[in-house]
Amino acid sequence: MSGTHFDTLIVGAGSAGAVLAARLSEDRGRSVGLIEAGPDYTRLEELPTRVRGFERGLRLYAGARVASHEWQYTARASALHLDMPVPRGRVIGGSSSINGTVFLRALRQDLDNWAAAGNSEWSFEGCLPYFRKLETDCDFADNDLHGASGPIPVCRAADDDWLPPSQAFFNACTDLGHAHCPDMNLPDARGVGPIPTNYHDGLRHSSAVGYLMPIRPRSNLDIMCEMLVTRVCLSDGRATGVEVVADDRIEVISADEVILSAGAIASPHLLMLSGIGPADELKTLGITPLLDLPGVGQHLLDHPFVMTVWNTSEAVSTFPAPGVPWQLQVRTTAPSSDVRDDGWLTMIMSTTRDGDDGRGFTIPSSLMYEKSQGTLRLRCTDPSAPPLIDFNYLAEESDLVRLRELFHLALEIGRHRAFDGLRTGLRYPSADNLASDSATDEWIARTISTGHHASCTCRMGPSSDRLAVVDQRGGVYGVEGLRVVDASILPDCPSVNLNATVMMLAEKLSDTLRGSHGE
Ligand SMILES: Cc1cc2nc3c(=O)[nH]c(=O)nc-3n(C[C@H](O)[C@H](O)[C@H](O)COP(=O)(O)OP(=O)(O)OC[C@H]3O[C@@H](n4cnc5c(N)ncnc54)[C@H](O)[C@@H]3O)c2cc1C
Repeated sequence: MSGTHFDTLIVGAGSAGAVLAARLSEDRGRSVGLIEAGPDYTRLEELPTRVRGFERGLRLYAGARVASHEWQYTARASALHLDMPVPRGRVIGGSSSINGTVFLRALRQDLDNWAAAGNSEWSFEGCLPYFRKLETDCDFADNDLHGASGPIPVCRAADDDWLPPSQAFFNACTDLGHAHCPDMNLPDARGVGPIPTNYHDGLRHSSAVGYLMPIRPRSNLDIMCEMLVTRVCLSDGRATGVEVVADDRIEVISADEVILSAGAIASPHLLMLSGIGPADELKTLGITPLLDLPGVGQHLLDHPFVMTVWNTSEAVSTFPAPGVPWQLQVRTTAPSSDVRDDGWLTMIMSTTRDGDDGRGFTIPSSLMYEKSQGTLRLRCTDPSAPPLIDFNYLAEESDLVRLRELFHLALEIGRHRAFDGLRTGLRYPSADNLASDSATDEWIARTISTGHHASCTCRMGPSSDRLAVVDQRGGVYGVEGLRVVDASILPDCPSVNLNATVMMLAEKLSDTLRGSHGE
């Protein structure tokens, strides 16, 4: 492997990396190397069940079960003295190969806020063509806002197919004043409606399935799996390649340009291991800082959530058929909020925790705009040691207040008469947990969980922003030939699940980079 050289070397074959590799290798004059730590699956028939779709009883939210396909990080929420598991995909397709397949686009306000913060190329208008390019929308393909020929199918449950808990959820939400919104991927969508998903015909359409499988034979694309990148090699302020461990050997793969797409946890981790990050912290660990970039690992954002779980007399679970256990969602604004659309609640036809007996449903309440910010720090210089992740949830009082309000909305929906005849009672929280605001807050602080949307740890921003790590083209400030393209560079966490936005980001930057090849 040592001695191998690529024009472009991408680290991580996840939501962003797979898209980049597929698009950049369309230029047959560019050699592209794609390195992935996890295993590869080249054909649909090879996909393990966990990667292909959903399994009954899978702890979708609470943690990981298939260690060979997942990084199993642990994070702190230091303000709450709470630790929690944080799984990420470690397999071709990355987290898009293990995720929940909710395929929601960033809202117009999310993207226009990015542009207003000094990222003028990332306005809603600037991003829309790339959301269109990546999808084939099964329901709104004749709409100017949607794509009809992209690699990822996006579908919604038709009204006639809504299962009884979904129908009850819809009736409860509309009765409580939430408008019916048939297309939650409209730029300003809010209200109650079907969840767009990229789970179609019994298959999770990950970035690996949609983008890599069809282009495997390309001779200018080399996909190297089960290979761990341990650092970026730098010389005279320029990235020259990466150091990898494969078959217990350390080797160097060189490249004209290195793109880190290892995700919001591993990309800042790799930068710091390479001497790029907050200089004081690196020095404390005995690493000679090559570049002082204080923003690396800062500004960690997510969408924390809490659940209400309800009992039913009959089994209502949709596992394993017809597939995803959720059909409907409501997007709303917490009553005391000063930001719009900061609440997301869904109807999950599963109890998700501790095994699923089928007799129950869950209504999670997610906070989609956090004011509290977390951090990611290097634990030590050993690349195999996970970084220190602190989500710092609810450090800001208004996050707790808004999450409590959204939690009360879940209770209001679940108790609504629309569920009479279906629901037999609240499984948890208990009456004691609901006895007062302080009891409820204690319950929230004890059970809050990651929404799996870690982001913004190498955020994009103008050079005047001292905590910005990359420019609008993903270029790392102060280093030639090094970019980061993944969830870590989002300027701010959009008010939606991240997969579609990260794939859009990679589509857009591929276009930019293809235009600049050979410059
Ligand atoms: C359990 C779960 C459920 C989710 N559900 C949804 C959902 O329903 N809808 C949604 O929109 N979003 C969801 N998300 C979030 C979404 O999937 C991620 O935000 C998105 O996939 C991130 O893309 P990425 O390219 O930044 O990173 P990833 O897709 O995580 O890709 C990073 C890749 O880099 C590889 N890598 C890391 N370090 C190294 C290294 N040192 N050497 C080599 N390779 C390395 C990893 O193995 C991985 O393949 C979920 C995430 C998880 C974990």
